[in-house]
Amino acid sequence: MPGIKLSIDELKAQYMHLGAGKRLKPKQWPNGARVAVALSFDVDNASVPLSRGLLGSEDLSRGMYGAIDGLPRILRMLDRQSAPASFFIPAVSIALNPEMAPSILSRRRHEIGVHGWIHEHLGMLNNEAEEQRLLNQSIEALTKAVGKRPVGYRAPSWAMSRFTMKQVKEAGFLYDSSLMASDDAYEVTIDGQPSGVIELPIERILDDAPYYGAANGSLPSPELVDQIYRAEFDVAYQEGGLYVLTMHPHYTGHRSRVLWLEKLIVYMKSKPGVWFATHEEVANYLKKNAMTQ
Ligand SMILES: [Zn+2]
Repeated sequence: MPGIKLSIDELKAQYMHLGAGKRLKPKQWPNGARVAVALSFDVDNASVPLSRGLLGSEDLSRGMYGAIDGLPRILRMLDRQSAPASFFIPAVSIALNPEMAPSILSRRRHEIGVHGWIHEHLGMLNNEAEEQRLLNQSIEALTKAVGKRPVGYRAPSWAMSRFTMKQVKEAGFLYDSSLMASDDAYEVTIDGQPSGVIELPIERILDDAPYYGAANGSLPSPELVDQIYRAEFDVAYQEGGLYVLTMHPHYTGHRSRVLWLEKLIVYMKSKPGVWFATHEEVANYLKKNAMTQ
């Protein structure tokens, strides 16, 4: 228990390394909307087992499902609902299934953002130079695949090292979406200093991995997961604000789960004043309408 030996000042420095600065909650979203819905998909596929050398056929083929059936089914559903989404993709996932980026981009309403080289766990890597090399490689690979430099960053496994945010800031990212200190967007502070990086916070509650990934397909019913996603949306709608949902094509891309995701989107669309946008669009709006006010 290293914490018991530290002073309050030392603990404060650790606690505040990445802080929640200015709350970025606009009076209203575009067209007077009260809530912004930002759907996101982390297209990990088999990058996690590959990064760890877990070469079992079960892990690899389950991940491959994300590229073969999961992503195409999700894209077809988003087409039906005319809903935009952000896709955070490890560079290795794109290299192994290069057809994914064109199929996302051909819809002309989605965004692709950085999600590491091979879904490396940056806290465990704990190496500043190596981390910088992997970030540079990831940006380069995605820039090539997308045709423009990505503006969004999401840390693999949502796990940052103590070097990550500084590198994200220096690389010029508009936003990060890996932290959890608020329901609303906020400006990240690094060791107490405003970074200029807009945080679009995520949450394990609003992530399919704990429900579908950890349970290994056994539980729970997608209907139960929908109840949680829906209740989170209802309160976001009541309070006004931001609703970020994180999913993975190799989990949510299955038939029964896309069915329930589509029901959720139809429900959200049935309410007046809901703005569906990519993370990039949300961050750009906040930069203009909340950052400097
Ligand atoms: Zn991931």
